[in-house]
Amino acid sequence: MGPTKGGMRYTPGVSMGECAALAMWMTWKCALLELPYGGAKGGVRCDPKQLSVGEIERVTRRYATELLPIIGPDRDIPAPDMATGEREMAWFMDTYSQQMGHAVPEIVTGKPPVLGGTAARRPATGLGVVYVTEGVLERLGWPVREQRFVVQGFGNVGRVAARELHDLGARVVAVADAGGGAANADGLDVPALAAWVDAHGAIEGFDGGEPVGRSAVLEVDCDVLIPAAIEQQITEENAERLRCRLVVEAANGPTTPGAEALLSARGIRVVPDVLANAGGVCVSYFEWVQDIQRYSWDYIELQERLRRQLRAALGKVWSAAEELDVSWRTAALSVAVTRVAQAARLRGVYP
Ligand code: NAD
Repeated sequence: MGPTKGGMRYTPGVSMGECAALAMWMTWKCALLELPYGGAKGGVRCDPKQLSVGEIERVTRRYATELLPIIGPDRDIPAPDMATGEREMAWFMDTYSQQMGHAVPEIVTGKPPVLGGTAARRPATGLGVVYVTEGVLERLGWPVREQRFVVQGFGNVGRVAARELHDLGARVVAVADAGGGAANADGLDVPALAAWVDAHGAIEGFDGGEPVGRSAVLEVDCDVLIPAAIEQQITEENAERLRCRLVVEAANGPTTPGAEALLSARGIRVVPDVLANAGGVCVSYFEWVQDIQRYSWDYIELQERLRRQLRAALGKVWSAAEELDVSWRTAALSVAVTRVAQAARLRGVYP
């Protein structure tokens, strides 16, 4: 569909199989969003917690150098993933640019804004989660302001989503991070909670709600549950105890297939990760486009474009689910696979 795109992770367990699976996921996510990309993923098997900053820099520069023959703004454009971020993207971009003899910001996305990154990349995934949620609620006829939300995970994604929902006038009744969380049926003061986390590093101890465990938070009574922490949180073990009407997968793979079947039997629908958290790759695409044309859009424009692109994808998923009478997850995959298959057929086989 175009140059390949995906994140690079530095983890002790990263393997070819894992990267192949994640690359395939990226293929479907990009196709669903109609981004002109194929999927990719990469990694270095290491434990960055055991490495000095200098070592991480050398790992990154060596990795970029080894990849030189197969990457490029028209071939493969890496991005951050587990244990990599703006800092690593800056080193990666610099290494590639030094080899080319001129600045090539479009070689990676997720760069610091001063190097051609985009202001909206940091909040992009969380904002996207909320845009997709708003779209789904609108179609279901459930006013956002009348819904109670629970968010598991208060990092990059969960925090932005919780804050945005709060700003929209919705009630965020519980939030948790890895150390536990806080619940308040009247709605948490999310800005105060965020300030607490900035000051103390975790939600624990926040007095604007009752303490709740990091897994127990999933079982708090609400309308919309947003898992935004890690994979495999909603399982066959706890699916029967969930007290929500809708699950929006902000994290990647938070619901096991067995759990999804149990939820479906209870009439709880799941907005799949490929759609719900696609805001990140969508804004990465905007960053690449801006770098190529050497022209930056402002924050408002980026938000508007993100909303439009995600709403369009949601519309296709919704129609496919109705037409095929399948779950939103199957519908999303069906839309994506159909698009890739169509392109493959039209291009044909050569030589
Ligand atoms: P992050 O590291 O910034 O935040 C993760 C949060 O989850 C932290 O608050 C952490 O304390 C909490 N957490 C970890 N384990 C937990 C547990 N067992 N129970 C409850 N809370 C727990 O990560 P992030 O970037 O916000 O990513 C969250 C999820 O979203 C991941 O699945 C990631 O793959 C997915 N995602 C992220 C992006 C992005 O742009 N950052 C894009 C697409 C998908």
